[in-house]
Amino acid sequence: MWRAEAYHYSKSINKPVAPFRQGRKQSCNKPVWQHTPWIHPLGVPFETHPVNGKRWYYQHRPYTPKTAPFEFTAEEMKWFQDNVAQHKPYIVVNPDYKTDSMRYPLKCWYGWDELISKLSNYTLLRCQPPNSQPVDGLHNINTSFRQSMLIIKYSACLITTEGGLHHAAGHQSVPSITIYGSATTPFCTGYETSKEIVRFTDCNPDGFGHYTEHEYCEQCVQAMKHITTDEIIVKLEEILCQ
Ligand SMILES: [Zn+2]
Repeated sequence: MWRAEAYHYSKSINKPVAPFRQGRKQSCNKPVWQHTPWIHPLGVPFETHPVNGKRWYYQHRPYTPKTAPFEFTAEEMKWFQDNVAQHKPYIVVNPDYKTDSMRYPLKCWYGWDELISKLSNYTLLRCQPPNSQPVDGLHNINTSFRQSMLIIKYSACLITTEGGLHHAAGHQSVPSITIYGSATTPFCTGYETSKEIVRFTDCNPDGFGHYTEHEYCEQCVQAMKHITTDEIIVKLEEILCQ
């Protein structure tokens, strides 16, 4: 997200930019920022967390993520050809979540097994995170984040909850079905290429998401439980017919 903002800022000042957070220099070594000519440690300082020291999108602040060119190296392309290209055409299914957040249960969806079973006629790939178990019904491919971006780039579609991989698809204008439920919101992290599944609830009356950083919300969990596999399959068919 910052990377794309940095691209547009760099173009406007015609100079490379350097990541800063609350006025302090940050490392340029994040994998997602590598091979990016407009990001340089000696560039013009540019805040990575401009909203209250938080993310670009935060609570009720409307935000539309920008996109920027994303280049892959010859070595990365060779890895793709050797390990992934033979699966084309394929859909990427992402049943994984960051579990290190209190919001984790609010962002979980419960229909993955049923969905995978219903989509058994398709080739389904999963970008398998380190130290995780394979998921039945999917081609599990161990990936770094950049390799996940590469797999998504050449996919027909990504099916996921809101998070890093939906940004990877949106950033590369790849269609996705993004399951938001009521805890997260497309008004802050949505892309034009994303078909969104949202639930308006008492805790999410305006669709801006129920941002509870440190508490559990039963309504958000129930909202996710009521999102059906058929709702996703209808959107998938819309994408595949385009
Ligand atoms: Zn809630």
